[in-house]
Amino acid sequence: MDGVASEAVNYSKIFRRLFPTKKEWDAVQIQMSKDLAHAPNEFASKCLFCGESLSGPDKSQSLCDSHSIPKHSLKAISDDGKLVSLKSLISPINGLTDFEGVGQAGTFRLICRRCDNLIFRDYEDFQNYTDDFVSRSGENGCQKIFNEIAMKNYLYSIYQQNMGIRMFKALEPIVVKANNSLIGEMVRGNLEKEMNDKRDYERYYAETKRLSEKTLIRNYYVGFYRIIPWTVPVAFQDALAVEISFDGTLINNVRDLRAKIQQLQLCIFPDKDRTILLAFSKQHANRLTPIYRYLNRLDDESAVKAVIALALRYSANVYISTNIEDDSVKTDYMRELASDNGTTRMHFWPDDLIPEEKAAFWSNQQAQQIVSEHDTLRQYSSIPDVLVGIDNY
Ligand SMILES: [Zn+2]
Repeated sequence: MDGVASEAVNYSKIFRRLFPTKKEWDAVQIQMSKDLAHAPNEFASKCLFCGESLSGPDKSQSLCDSHSIPKHSLKAISDDGKLVSLKSLISPINGLTDFEGVGQAGTFRLICRRCDNLIFRDYEDFQNYTDDFVSRSGENGCQKIFNEIAMKNYLYSIYQQNMGIRMFKALEPIVVKANNSLIGEMVRGNLEKEMNDKRDYERYYAETKRLSEKTLIRNYYVGFYRIIPWTVPVAFQDALAVEISFDGTLINNVRDLRAKIQQLQLCIFPDKDRTILLAFSKQHANRLTPIYRYLNRLDDESAVKAVIALALRYSANVYISTNIEDDSVKTDYMRELASDNGTTRMHFWPDDLIPEEKAAFWSNQQAQQIVSEHDTLRQYSSIPDVLVGIDNY
């Protein structure tokens, strides 16, 4: 199959054909997690920041379990040190939900302990998030904070792509055995996509690393900043390729593989008795303006919900306290938002130019998908109140 396109397909159906019994699927997953446990250094023999060997005699330069979200925020919402990934709670794999300790939640292993302590210091110091933060946002101190957040997001993304590549590679021999061209196409297409995405993230990361070594940074623009006067029980940060704004404005054509994505850096940082909501981007990323404009008009509760909707729709790095009742967040809307409706996008890669009638078919398909994407996002007020956490206020 050819075409510069993606198509909604039913993954669970395909996987059921690949692994007809739960036992077979379990075996594949167990094997994959064993591989991961036994090869912790596979992705990084050298620290991705300082370049020093991670297996040298200096303990401060051993591989670090870096947090993708500030530990301070994870601690602020954890119940007895436990957290749960919101996505895995809503759509557990084989009925298993990942409960993680603060020490493990959303971690990546790519840099050394010493760098981890040094290079994120400014943004992890919550005293920096003051009432006048936006008016100071052009100052070097704030620009440094934005760069640290973006750098962390890209490191985490590289790590996630590594995991995806590993999964699709592990599937390859099984696919060969299954001898099914559609499944083969799907696995190859996704593998190639993960590898392409990884190259993009490596490029973005290199840019933030270069900036981190400069004395003066002028690169970021804050579109939305709000201090919510209570502790929201959700912690999040990631760089998002948002497709559409709440008002229906197209932001990024994520289906055009050659399109330049304007990324939204989004954070929910719970603190003691308050929560920081922050959205920023590179300067001149003007396509994101409708999102900023929309968020700025919302009251605190609605703003929290809208930001959670973006986070859950475009990322898996959302953590919540384990004392939130499972049933209260497993609603149909939350499933839809987390894409747990049995369908996901599948990518095809073109060898030739696309015939005209096929191109028309795909562009119609894409138009329909964008409409449904907008429908999902604009219903953000359906996010359960328990995730806003206003009761604790
Ligand atoms: Zn290092």
